[in-house]
Amino acid sequence: MAQGEKGSILIVEDEAKIAEIVKAYLERDGYRVAHADTGGKALKLLKEPFDLVVLDLMLPDMDGEDLCQLIRENSDVPVIMLTAKSAEEDRIQGLGLGADDYVVKPFSPRELVARINAHLRRTKKTQKTLSFNKGSLVIDAANHEARKNSGTVVLTPTEFRMLLALAESPGAVMSRQKLANIVSGYDFEGYERTIDAHVKNLRHKIEDDPKGPVFIKTVYGLGYKFIGTKDED
Ligand code: CA
Repeated sequence: MAQGEKGSILIVEDEAKIAEIVKAYLERDGYRVAHADTGGKALKLLKEPFDLVVLDLMLPDMDGEDLCQLIRENSDVPVIMLTAKSAEEDRIQGLGLGADDYVVKPFSPRELVARINAHLRRTKKTQKTLSFNKGSLVIDAANHEARKNSGTVVLTPTEFRMLLALAESPGAVMSRQKLANIVSGYDFEGYERTIDAHVKNLRHKIEDDPKGPVFIKTVYGLGYKFIGTKDED
């Protein structure tokens, strides 16, 4: 496959050796790769569109979390965070800031490439619109967006995939494991709490009252189910 055919990836990482290895693996896999060793350089490069960003948490000029928030102000590009911090709290915090996935150092470059492939496969669009509760929630798969009471709701790619997966099977209980597989393509360590964090974020975005949800209901001990009423086409 010619280099760059699979898409473009931005690596934001100040450790030259790690950046070099990841870049080599991704290029071998057919991606076009750009590298920034500071947050400032990354923001400059991000004026051009990328298909995915690999973001180190500890950068010389800013925190990866802050950079992730800045990226999210303008873009829903998938972000995979690299970090040496392994505590689950950090994972949840990263996801709260709009990262789609988290990889803890030291990591296997092969595994990182597999995760990137899985994320990009799942970002591919389906072409349909689903409407619920008399139009109060509309999921527009073609444009990868959701609308709540006619206003656009900004969702991360992971949140969008999760919402679409739930809404495609109203009334069906989906386990956290199944949701983890749908959004990431594999089960990862700590997926239960990660899925809960995504659902919490989703509820804040699509529910009028996140504590009394009318779309995503918790099924204790089992998982989640979508309880919206589908509108007639
Ligand atoms: Ca670093």
